Amino acid sequence: MVETQGPLSALVLITGANRGLGLEMVKQMVETQGPLTPVSVLFACCRDPGGPRAEVNLTFDLVLYCLLNSLDAADPKSIKQAAQQVASVVGKSGLNIIINNAAIAIRSPFFESTPEEMQNCFNINAIGPMFISLLRAAAKDSGTPGMSCRKAAVINISTIASSNGLANETYNKWRVLPYRVSKAAMNMMSVCASVELQKDEILCMMLHPGWVRTDLGGPEGELDTHESVEGMFRVMNSLTEKHCGALLNWKGETVPW
Ligand code: NDP
Repeated sequence: MVETQGPLSALVLITGANRGLGLEMVKQMVETQGPLTPVSVLFACCRDPGGPRAEVNLTFDLVLYCLLNSLDAADPKSIKQAAQQVASVVGKSGLNIIINNAAIAIRSPFFESTPEEMQNCFNINAIGPMFISLLRAAAKDSGTPGMSCRKAAVINISTIASSNGLANETYNKWRVLPYRVSKAAMNMMSVCASVELQKDEILCMMLHPGWVRTDLGGPEGELDTHESVEGMFRVMNSLTEKHCGALLNWKGETVPW
């Protein structure tokens, strides 16, 4: 069980917001009074806003405080451009939460994975945007001690499939080598980042959303997007400095490394 700390009013950025879990995060932040609301500005980022892969037109009724941003998580130029656009909107308030949700899963087992597939997965999954100066600005602006998503946080969406400790029992279920390796790399990057960012009181941790019925998770997933995101938001709302570098699931339970 996780304890909640009350409502947030946050400046938030989500990557991969056009479908799947990212889209559900946008919907719950905007349409319902979920635990992370109220959100003052939400940057819903995707590489092709309004393109054929967007499940709904993200401009629906969200224009008041949901801004669409083009961001390709594998393209440093696109990330830099997005950072400049976001900075021009938020000014000295910075960003409270960055949710690195965008990912691809290349479904190839050990003997069939190519170097190109490994590289492709790594570029998109392991290296998410962090926008450190915007997070620093938010941490400074908050004027409160400690760490929380209300103040400044990077939430990297990870997976149970990244766990070394569980690979023996899960590999045959999900034989997705490039995906597993890239997410394990993301975990290490997150832990190192969490150490570096602690002095600025910026929280960095990882969340496993559960096995969810999306394009990536497939139709056999155990959860729907609503349940998963509701759980992840509850967990995010409970985070403090003791969760720096933690890998938790959508119920707030620790996932073994
Ligand atoms: P989906 O396949 O449904 O959605 C993936 C999202 O990532 C899409 O919005 C996609 O955009 C975006 N994306 C992919 N590549 C890029 C890129 N280069 N730049 C920007 N956006 C990109 O996956 P889920 O919603 O299921 O997954 C969301 C997160 O949850 C991922 O990090 C995944 O690893 C994690 N996860 C999911 C599980 C599940 O069971 N579903 C289990 C464990 C973890 P586009 O439409 O442009 O391709």
